[in-house]
Amino acid sequence: MSYKSIIDNKPTKEIIQAGWRSIIGLEIHIELKTQSKMFCGCSAAYFGHKPNTHVCPVCLGLPGALPVANKKAIGWVVLCGLALDCQIPLFSKFDRKNYFYPDLPKGYQISQYDLPLAVKGRVKMDDSKIIRITRVHLEEDTAKLIHATVKGKGVTLIDFNRAGVPLMEVVTEPDIKSPQEAKEFLKKLRQIVRYLGISDCDMEKGSMRLEVNVSLQKSGISKLPDYKVEIKNLNSFRFVEKALEYEIKRQLGLIKKGQKPLQETRGWNEVEQMTYSQRWKEEAQDYRYFPEPDLPPIHWQKKEIERIKKSLIELPDEKGARFQKQYKLSLDQIKSLIESRERADYFEEAVKVGCQHQIDAKEIANVLVNKRIGIEKILPAELIKILVKKRIKPTIKGKELEKIVNKVIRENRKAVEDYKKGKITAVEFLVGQIARATKGQADPNQTRKVLLEKLR
Ligand code: ZN
Ligand code: MN
Repeated sequence: MSYKSIIDNKPTKEIIQAGWRSIIGLEIHIELKTQSKMFCGCSAAYFGHKPNTHVCPVCLGLPGALPVANKKAIGWVVLCGLALDCQIPLFSKFDRKNYFYPDLPKGYQISQYDLPLAVKGRVKMDDSKIIRITRVHLEEDTAKLIHATVKGKGVTLIDFNRAGVPLMEVVTEPDIKSPQEAKEFLKKLRQIVRYLGISDCDMEKGSMRLEVNVSLQKSGISKLPDYKVEIKNLNSFRFVEKALEYEIKRQLGLIKKGQKPLQETRGWNEVEQMTYSQRWKEEAQDYRYFPEPDLPPIHWQKKEIERIKKSLIELPDEKGARFQKQYKLSLDQIKSLIESRERADYFEEAVKVGCQHQIDAKEIANVLVNKRIGIEKILPAELIKILVKKRIKPTIKGKELEKIVNKVIRENRKAVEDYKKGKITAVEFLVGQIARATKGQADPNQTRKVLLEKLR
């Protein structure tokens, strides 16, 4: 389904006028909400818990401890890959990514290098543009470093509760052309992952973490530029948008001065509203990737992938298309109703109850969208009860109602015939037609009574 584009997809005027375009790619880390960690039995639900209480020899990286892969996490990444229209290679493996940092007890992170779980996907944006997905892989999260002051001394404390939590990484091709489009893509990805129920994607809790890369190319040249600037640790969609806007202006400024932007990693300073240099790529490490010897590689049977594919639920776009066909609502209303799976389910449950009380989908959608009803505060059936009560007192009755009933009977010969042949449900259809003709201003019970009399 395609909505009217609500976003300004054009890169800033300034770059276009200068004859350039921005090229943006994204890398998103998402913590999976499995019960246990990626390679040990420790609970993965660590948020808000006392430091170093979710630990064991495996996730502390003690010598001799051996990892065992979390099957559920692997299945979920494949599921997400399929939802992003990826190919699932039948062979995949884990690799060691070596680097030295205190948040990494083993001295390496178990990740995936050349053979990730999912590759070559695509996400269709609301304006029908395709953003290609390079890969989706699975790795383990690192420990958390806490910079604090203890006895007047600046120290760094380490909390290993997060170490080893399953972490899914989604990487896009540099197909994004504006900061606004980057934000829209991220919203879409978060919506899909939440629909799948595999992560809360809560940025405040760090379960969704964002990195962007951006460079400028002369418009009209399709080749990618030979540098890119990465911006790390962006913890909201708004920061992504603002950091990209700043960075595009900065790079254009350099180019206008005849300089080339450096290939480097930068951070975002929210207070100063600017990006700042962290390290140059020349110093970037060689991670010495090699296959993880303590974990067997993954061989899929085609039928196992098929089974996971079958378990895919209705995704936002499919749901939207169905809602459009089934309920004839406006696109804005649909977009709001399918925001989350819970909200969409709530709407459909209310429609089910509503149709027993002549309250139609449109009326329910209006209330849910315009009044922003908190779906956790009131059950669908209760909402319908309120709507029935609120309904205007019947104003059409007696002779006036009879006239309308006669007209509906005249205009719906087929339904009347059906009824006479014994198809009782035809009555419901006729009651519905009368409700429409009276704009709901007749009492349903009275309507039914009059209708049945006339039919007899
Ligand atoms: Zn553990
Ligand atoms: Mn990663």
